[in-house]
Amino acid sequence: MRKKIVAGNWKMNTLPAEGVELAKGVVAQRGEVCECVNFIVCPPFTHLAQVAEVLKGSTVELGAQNCAAEAKGAYTGEVAASMIAALGCKYVILGHSERRQYYGETSETLNKKMEQVYANGLTPIYCVGENLDEREAGNHFAVCKQQIEEVVFNLTEEQFKNLVIAYEPVWAIGTGKTATAEQAQEIHAYIREVLSSKFGAAAEECPILYGGSCKPSNAAEIFAKEDVDGGLIGGAALKAEDFIAIGKGFMA
Ligand code: PEP
Repeated sequence: MRKKIVAGNWKMNTLPAEGVELAKGVVAQRGEVCECVNFIVCPPFTHLAQVAEVLKGSTVELGAQNCAAEAKGAYTGEVAASMIAALGCKYVILGHSERRQYYGETSETLNKKMEQVYANGLTPIYCVGENLDEREAGNHFAVCKQQIEEVVFNLTEEQFKNLVIAYEPVWAIGTGKTATAEQAQEIHAYIREVLSSKFGAAAEECPILYGGSCKPSNAAEIFAKEDVDGGLIGGAALKAEDFIAIGKGFMA
């Protein structure tokens, strides 16, 4: 049985006090959903420590949205994976399309970040996905394959066992457009096939999340698909009620 995960990517939203309130709301409502669903919140770096306090004693886990490619030293403005781990994070989102697009993150950088994440006992949530032009040209399979081959294929078998993938079509992120459940299943199954070509049966255990305008009204249909193991949620993760309602999609 693969892990079921609902992870919230808060992006650059909420001030610390607001983040604390949001986390409190998630903790308070978490009991409405089966323990078999793992909830993760990924606040901005500035309030990871405060949110970690709120999550203490709950089963809601903490993640960061990024980390540095280097271990430590003269890298002004960067945040090391070791610092994130010390604050109680278990996960780090890597390769989000916003980071690839606005901050020029390449596979080369992401390989270094992966190394840091594993060296500090964290689990990467590695994002892949095509943009609209690539989808319209029918290149979405090739794009995802390349993003996996260039980074995930460099992992050891041991590291691969501790990986979460998020398929996030760029055209669906924050746009209100969602991939259909069939589109999600088609590419999730394909991603699993690519993973199994390298890691064999272990690919069956790798959670593959869908991300892109996932909300309470569409989560159940998407999560019902065989190769969809949950969601990476942006906008709808900013309201505790909606975030939890998305988790309920597994129970529908
Ligand atoms: C995301 O950016 O990871 C995301 C899925 O955003 P949204 O849910 O807002 O589309």
